[in-house]
Amino acid sequence: MIEKRQFYINGAWVDPAQPADHQVIDPSTEEPCAVISLGSQADTDAAVAAARAALPGWMATPAAERIALVEKLLDVYNSRLDELARATSLEMGAPIDMARQQQVTSGTWHLTNFIKAAKDFRFEKPLGDHAPNDRIVLEAVGVCAMITPWNWPQNQITLKFGAAAVAGCTMVLKPSEESPLNAMIFAEMVDEAGFPPGVFNLVNGDGAGVGTQLSGHPDVDMVSFTGSTRAGTAISKNAADTLKKVHLELGGKGANLIFADADDKAVKRGVLHMMNNTGQSCNAPSRMLVQKDIYDSAVETAAEVAASVKVGPASEEGRHIGPVVNATQWGKIQDLIQAGIDEGARLVAGGTGRPDGLNKGYFVKPTVFADVNNQMTIARTEIFGPVLSIIPFETEEEALEIANDTVYGLTNYVQSTDPERTRRLARQLRSGMVEINGQSRGAGAPFGGMKQSGNGREGGAYGIEDFLEVKSVSGWAAE
Ligand code: NAD
Repeated sequence: MIEKRQFYINGAWVDPAQPADHQVIDPSTEEPCAVISLGSQADTDAAVAAARAALPGWMATPAAERIALVEKLLDVYNSRLDELARATSLEMGAPIDMARQQQVTSGTWHLTNFIKAAKDFRFEKPLGDHAPNDRIVLEAVGVCAMITPWNWPQNQITLKFGAAAVAGCTMVLKPSEESPLNAMIFAEMVDEAGFPPGVFNLVNGDGAGVGTQLSGHPDVDMVSFTGSTRAGTAISKNAADTLKKVHLELGGKGANLIFADADDKAVKRGVLHMMNNTGQSCNAPSRMLVQKDIYDSAVETAAEVAASVKVGPASEEGRHIGPVVNATQWGKIQDLIQAGIDEGARLVAGGTGRPDGLNKGYFVKPTVFADVNNQMTIARTEIFGPVLSIIPFETEEEALEIANDTVYGLTNYVQSTDPERTRRLARQLRSGMVEINGQSRGAGAPFGGMKQSGNGREGGAYGIEDFLEVKSVSGWAAE
């Protein structure tokens, strides 16, 4: 059993102020795989105080030196990828090959993109030729609490760390209590890279404890949160008393609009995207909207593709999907599959219960419902499991209306070979991201949502901007 009870505060690993053991469960076996500590107010206060004390020095450090430290971190990160992948796979259930190829390499990608964006970033710039003595100075927001989820843990941690570090913010990270091990390896890497003490701190804990202490802390200037809309609401309310800046990356219920003129891989691509990471992605294309002309064949293809998706333990190599993260999520997904059946959707693949041959572990059958309408529970709720809902439509206008009829607005997808149509829809879909014909976003593209999917953007220059205050100076002396 792994024992990792300490926190990283002010450049050192320290014991918790009071013992509070928490078992991390391996979702493939339902057995404990590690013990960590849940922090208390005293630990939170110590981490925030360290970040506060380090802030003036870090803000005054030239951007080039901050960037150089992130470059060093990237080298250390890349030298420990396998260890990170193993920890991630064990604690949150991503199959080991997927953890290596997607989960931890996302961190490499984000840090690389931040380094590039930061080198091109202008932290001071003129307002314009009309006002030669005006300067716009972009400076760090201050002490940032970073609260992250378990589903893409290194993706989230590096998206927040990279931006905050180059912006000159100091940080307290509270990773998900479901996936603390990879985060603690990350803290070791920050230490090895040589960041000054207090710039980055890590305290483990749950939402009710350290999470709430951070979001209400008078010495925290900003909370950057990724997770559920429920927790995002609680954090916003708790942060309101101190009017701190709140940056939210929340849930989604993405629509994937597949038109009759779509390429012939579109349906398969949509199903596999939905099932990736066992459906536990905020940007999952969970509502597949299919034009009537190709509806029957699309349903048939989707059912075949889902049936071909293998499910198995995270430790096994190969291209299967793993378990979902915990018993609560497993139970919630089962209830939602049952709701789909009860409300009259047509089950064409999967269903309730574990896949054959898997009697232990939080495994879910890759599931597809056809004949879903957008008012059904499975079309409105973020399921966060491998469950796809197929909804028929006739016209482009109808597809657009269904796609936008949700409280979420994170990512929508369009599959069509008509360029006019794809551009039209990209402008009309109410989401922070629109992905056309399977083309993924480029380096440094902003990630984030509208409506109840959150606010703010992560990644590249847009991500750095979110950790900066805009200062307007007039009467700037000519240099
Ligand atoms: P969660 O909201 O329960 O937990 C996320 C983090 O918030 C954890 O660290 C948790 O301890 C903490 N937390 C929970 N309640 C809190 C509170 N009241 N105050 C402060 N902190 C609190 O979510 P989860 O189950 O870990 O993750 C799944 C959810 O995250 C899904 O809804 C998913 O869509 C969303 N998500 C969104 C994005 C995005 O970028 N938009 C990315 C990943 C996950």
